[in-house]
Order: sequence, then structure tokens, then C-alpha cells
Amino acid sequence: MDNLTNLSYVRKLLEEHNFSFSKGLGQNFLVNPAVCPKIAEMGNAAPGTGIIEIGTGIGTLTAELASRADKVVAVEIDTRLLPILEVTLKDFKNIKVINQDIMNTDIRALIEEEFSGLEVAVCANLPYYLTSPIIMMLLESRAPIRSVTVMVQKEAADRLCAKVGTRESGAITVGVNYFGSAAKLFNVSRGSFVPSPNVDSAVIKIDIDNKKYSLSEKDEKFFFAMVKGAFSQRRKTLANSLSSSLGLTKDNIYEALEHCGHKPTTRVEELDMDNLINLAGELIKYL
Ligand code: SAM
Repeated sequence: MDNLTNLSYVRKLLEEHNFSFSKGLGQNFLVNPAVCPKIAEMGNAAPGTGIIEIGTGIGTLTAELASRADKVVAVEIDTRLLPILEVTLKDFKNIKVINQDIMNTDIRALIEEEFSGLEVAVCANLPYYLTSPIIMMLLESRAPIRSVTVMVQKEAADRLCAKVGTRESGAITVGVNYFGSAAKLFNVSRGSFVPSPNVDSAVIKIDIDNKKYSLSEKDEKFFFAMVKGAFSQRRKTLANSLSSSLGLTKDNIYEALEHCGHKPTTRVEELDMDNLINLAGELIKYL
């Protein structure tokens, strides 16, 4: 396992398998020996736990997770990595690699089939091009996942961990705070990867609480449509952004804002979670 953070071993292994990195798939593999143990430990990989990993690379984090948790199921899209993983993970009996796109994976079914009786957590060094879609897919699945501990681009980490109702927040911040809460764990320098990315990275952890808010399915769908519409034009007033995205009249929006105690010129980044949920509850009456 030590070998997987040894740069000359990694280069030789990749050469032997004629492997070339795919930028499109966000392939920057971890070679800093200090990082994977920290992700595994802080990400709840421990006896009694099953871990879902997204994107194995050559299996560096996978092996670390499997040495601590009862079972690891890793979803990797790139078929070219499978023969490499057969070498690097050959000593582990508790790892299953599924060769498919995480975005086409039924997370609830996977958990039911693979992790009976275990507490489940997600740990990954995410492909950065899919950061928000993967996180929202995991959260919206309402699957029984305890936590999501992932490496993301530093700017994405700042947004994910921002406070709702500040300039740093975005639609993804609201999503995370609806289903749980996020905290930044530590920064990771670009030199920790091969090849080095052009951006800095950070590891964040989302503790999931699926019962935090209990809107009906219809209200929840409307809430997220409102949030998406408002943040897609975040510099505009809510009256402007929501009238175009939700198809409501500005007068309806002014009335709803007034009913909730907000000025007509309010922008989305001025509202906290409760403000947003109350506003959605008022606006939906005008549909
Ligand atoms: N875990 C490894 C590590 O830390 O060295 C690799 C991390 S690398 C940043 C991201 C991994 O996600 C790559 O192995 C890439 O092939 C894989 N990947 C990219 N898109 C994916 C998708 N849609 N579904 C599953 N895996 C994907």
C-alpha cells in the first residue's frame, strides 16, 4: 500500500499498463502519504462501517479505507483502471469495484445490496467537474448515509461550507444545509497529486441529517426550483430573478416578500435557511 504514494512506483505501474491520465475525467491521483489516512479516519472508515468510494484512481484511498472499514464499494467509470486495480488491491477481500458512472448509480439500491447491517459513509477524492452534481445526487437520494467526506477544489469547499445568507453562499450551500451541515477539514496542496492540478484543494465533511427539514415532496421540489432560480441570477433582486425563473408576477413576489417581512429589493444572498423556506411556502400559494 505504501507503494501507491511512491511516485516512481506509480509512474512505472502506469507505464506498464500504458495508462495516460484523462483530464476530462478529472484524474489527479493522490501521492501525498499523509492525506489518505486523514480522509479515512475523519470520514468514519472504521469497524462496523461500509464505505462508498467514488473514483478509485489506482486505489490509493480505496486501500486505506479498506484497511479500516468492514467493506468498501468503489464506483469507477474508467475501464482502463480495472487491470491496475487488480494488481494494487489484490490483497484485499473486502473491496468491490463497480465499473460505472456514479451519476447512473442507484445509491439506495447499492446500499441495500452491499451494506446490510453496516453504517454507511461516502469518502472520495472527487472528479472536480462533477462536484455539485455528485453531492446533490447523494443528498437528494435520501439514502441512509451518515457522512460524505470529499476532496474538492478549494473554491468549491468555501462555497459548500459557507453560511447561508452570506455572499459566499450558493445553491449548493442551501442544498447541503437542507440535508445536513458541512465543515472544512483541511487544505491539500497541488503537489499532493500526480499530475498536479492547476487549483488548490480541500477536504470537507458533510454530516447528513435526513430529518432536518420535512417538507412535502411538492413543497421540496418548489423550494429547490426557487433556490436554483434565485441563485442563477444572484445579483438581481428576488422579484426579478424569480419572476423569470418561476413564472410568477412581480406583484406576487412583492406580496410574498412583504408577508415574510422582507424589503422588495431583497436579494437571495440576504436570506438564511428559515427565511428561504418560509418564502417558498408563501410563493407556492401563487402557483
Ligand atoms: N481516488 C483516487 C485518488 O485519490 O488518487 C482518484 C481520484 S481522481 C481525482 C477522480 C477519479 O474519479 C478518477 O479515477 C476518475 O476516473 C473517476 N471518475 C471520473 N468521473 C467519474 C464518474 N462519473 N463516475 C465514477 N468515477 C468517475
